[in-house]
Amino acid sequence: MRGKRSKQYKKLMQQYGLSFGFREPYQVLLDADIIKDADRFKMDLIGGLERTLHGQVKPMITQCSMRHLYAAAKEPGVSFLIDKAKTYERRRCDHRPEDYPEPLSTKDCLASVVDAKGSKTNKHRYVVASQEPEVRKFMRGLLGVPLCYINRSVMIMEPMAGATAENREKEERGKFRAGLKRGSGSLKRKREDEDVKEESSVQEDMPKRKKAVNGPKGPNPLAVKKSKKKPEGPATTFTEAESKDLKTKVLKLEQADGSEPILASIKGKRKRKHKSGDSGRAAPVKPEMADEDG
Ligand SMILES: [Zn+2]
Repeated sequence: MRGKRSKQYKKLMQQYGLSFGFREPYQVLLDADIIKDADRFKMDLIGGLERTLHGQVKPMITQCSMRHLYAAAKEPGVSFLIDKAKTYERRRCDHRPEDYPEPLSTKDCLASVVDAKGSKTNKHRYVVASQEPEVRKFMRGLLGVPLCYINRSVMIMEPMAGATAENREKEERGKFRAGLKRGSGSLKRKREDEDVKEESSVQEDMPKRKKAVNGPKGPNPLAVKKSKKKPEGPATTFTEAESKDLKTKVLKLEQADGSEPILASIKGKRKRKHKSGDSGRAAPVKPEMADEDG
């Protein structure tokens, strides 16, 4: 199940990349609640996002969301989260305390950040990670906003919203007509459109040309007889073989005169098992480390 979902997410981000130009590192706008919930479920928020989005992530937080965290500073553990959030890139929403004594709601703040001009697009290609259904509902109305949230300690990415998916399909069709799209699933259309037929014939030529370039030059190695002569060289040949327990290496000295080979065991480099001294966690993961350094 997990693997299947992971594949879906990977494909989804590929589609966002193709249709809307999303590139790594993905800029992810985090709201205060997802930061708190990740902590509540003992999740590595940034690591989880990177696994979900299948790429590097640049976490960002708006001034208002930061103020939401400050407002909850008395709750247990939140001061730690504030320090963590300070390491994220601050997205200036310009809802300053002078003008807004109370921070804007997550929805109003993120709406102004993602789509300042009300053009129903996601100009800066943000991923929005918000726990508020209201926020995600609003973002679904814009074109091309990947949405993430945490549901019971599982990071979820929403499927493409109606408008986004429709736009994607329209674009795909456009690309197809322009002859940019290659591949399968187009048999029906080939019969319908004459001009597409012409293009497909061009495509058919391509692999042929490739074939001519490919392939090794010279005789087929399978058809060539092996020479039975022993190669003339040093009196002894050295072969390094690893013994079965993999801890010692055996040096095999093969005598040229055919007598018993001399075996010499050498102490191989023993692989030291690194025991992480601190918390007994497995191999250090970069994002997690950066996270915890806070
Ligand atoms: Zn704001």
